[in-house]
Amino acid sequence: MAVRELTITGGEPFARTDILDIIGLCLDNGLRLTVLTSGIVDSALLGHVKQSDVELRLSLDGASEETHDYIRGKGNLKEVLRIAQELRSHSTIRLSAHFTVNRLNLREICRIPSLLDRMEVRELVVSVIKPAGRAKEHPELLIEPELLPLARERIATISSNRRIRWRRYGDKNWSALACPAAFTKCGITPEGNITPCVFLGDGFVGGSIREYSLEHLWRHDDKCRRLRNLSINPDCLGCARLGTHNGGCRARALYHSGSIEDRDPYCCAIRQNSMNESLGVHDG
Ligand code: SF4
Ligand code: SF4
Repeated sequence: MAVRELTITGGEPFARTDILDIIGLCLDNGLRLTVLTSGIVDSALLGHVKQSDVELRLSLDGASEETHDYIRGKGNLKEVLRIAQELRSHSTIRLSAHFTVNRLNLREICRIPSLLDRMEVRELVVSVIKPAGRAKEHPELLIEPELLPLARERIATISSNRRIRWRRYGDKNWSALACPAAFTKCGITPEGNITPCVFLGDGFVGGSIREYSLEHLWRHDDKCRRLRNLSINPDCLGCARLGTHNGGCRARALYHSGSIEDRDPYCCAIRQNSMNESLGVHDG
């Protein structure tokens, strides 16, 4: 299958007692590996990971204890800072942070660079919360489509900070149809089932790698095939963003309309915002 890259996320990957075996196996097979962690890392485990060629990415959900700990649990931001400083003393490890923008931390985005300074972290990945997993049970965290342009504006302020190398958490190589799910990426659930994208939820969980090879599932599983066979939404035909965004994110479309084939309202909100800007239309 020529898989080049693997991201291990959670829950908390370091809660697994066999995480070092998994990391070792990935590295032995030449995978570029990223492990996301909430900072609940056992120091003994850390002693082994520091020698590995792994990107360890610390999750940030706010620049203040109030917002970050609201999601991660009391005292977690302090723990993240402690772990970052501890890891920094090991030069071999590649340390980054993953900041997920949500409704509560929107106004804290400008404080993220100074938080990273304290952590001595220079690499940042930024994503916007998706209506999936636990976020679905906390609608107060979700960013409405209309707020997305504002979120993007604030995220862009990070780019003016020269000390930070940042990138959007993005799907490389958007496919010819809609998104890379089942074209250039897939997910594996903690139970070992394939899914075209982990953000699509339970309805898109396919067969198990305990029964079939990953290659077999990738090629033949119904859920993957379904994503590959989606047609372009007729409402997107003729849209200027069709060439680059092709209807947007399928997970967002599914959440907002119940149909995986619908338009992504966030994609439309960005289009509307650029149209307003080019026409000189402003709110208020
Ligand atoms: S469904 Fe959304 S998050 Fe998942 S791969 Fe497609 S664009 Fe990315
Ligand atoms: S902006 Fe809306 S209509 Fe245009 S491609 Fe995106 S989802 Fe489709």
